[in-house]
Amino acid sequence: MNNIDWGALPFGYQKTDYNVRCYYRDGKWGELEITSDEYIPIHMAASCLHYGQEAFEGLKAFRGKDNKVRLFRWQENAKRMANSAEGVMMAEVPESLFGEAVKKVIQLNEKFVPPHGTGAALYLRPLLIGSGAQVGVKPANEYMFMVFATPVGPYFKQGFKPVNFQVVRDFDRAAPLGTGHIKVGGNYAASLRASERAHDEGYANVLFLDAKEKKFIDEAGPANFFGIKDGVYVTPDSNSILPSITNMSLRVIAEDLGLKVERRHVSVDELGSFEEAGACGTAAVISPIGKIVDRDTGKEYVFSKDGNPGEWTTKLYERLQGIQYGDVEDTHGWLEIVE
Ligand SMILES: *Cc1c(COP(=O)(O)O)cnc(C)c1O
Repeated sequence: MNNIDWGALPFGYQKTDYNVRCYYRDGKWGELEITSDEYIPIHMAASCLHYGQEAFEGLKAFRGKDNKVRLFRWQENAKRMANSAEGVMMAEVPESLFGEAVKKVIQLNEKFVPPHGTGAALYLRPLLIGSGAQVGVKPANEYMFMVFATPVGPYFKQGFKPVNFQVVRDFDRAAPLGTGHIKVGGNYAASLRASERAHDEGYANVLFLDAKEKKFIDEAGPANFFGIKDGVYVTPDSNSILPSITNMSLRVIAEDLGLKVERRHVSVDELGSFEEAGACGTAAVISPIGKIVDRDTGKEYVFSKDGNPGEWTTKLYERLQGIQYGDVEDTHGWLEIVE
């Protein structure tokens, strides 16, 4: 099983050897179980299937030049999953169990961690679901937590090249007081029609606006948005944005590189003033934005005229990737080596 063409890996599911699972029953978490089964036996009345009691996470492990495997900021994913659990009334996964599960999956699937220099990584997908049978609308009394791994290549096949986005107003991803700030599947379900239409119309994804006033930028599809102007890294702040750990890290790196950082409402009109723009998340790290087109007005905001990413966007990307692959010193203590 080592005939994987690492350089040509898609961002998709590929079978690995093991996954781990754990059940919450009678008010407590049981032992972590190791399995090779890709399927989950599930009760037909499980609350995740009917009432959307589910949350997931996404994080990566990277192989360095020294061949060591580095896991990036997993504690932040553990915290976020605990917030997601609270948000849809599921049993919280303790940080220690989350860490144990993620590291165990990496160790068990070590041969699937792509070699250094291929641009690929081992993607880890923790999942928490309401597994207890429930017909009335209320939280389940049983939960399942699992983590699986899959080696992934870069999210965008074109590589680190600008992609285009469209501003839409006829779909919302999340309500202002809804579940946009937690990583639950329902937000993704709500975004599918907008993003599939954007793909059909030739865009990488949509820029969702705030659902109430349609004035401010919320998210860039399944990623956070940032813009750069006059030496300032600007990223939207709102209750319906998922707090991206990539964005959190880029804000720190931006300051390290000498940029100022602002986290505030960003109006659509302000798009015209940015020199660079990008979307960020674990999957792609940064997707530089070449152009944003307002689907209703036809107005275009161009950030890349020559088809290349901007200077700051490139520096941010290289620094963060450099840290993740162990090529740049990890001065913030973001990595844990998994032996
Ligand atoms: C997961 C996710 C992101 C990116 O978060 P990272 O922690 O950087 O991977 C951004 N927006 C949405 C809606 C997400 O679900």
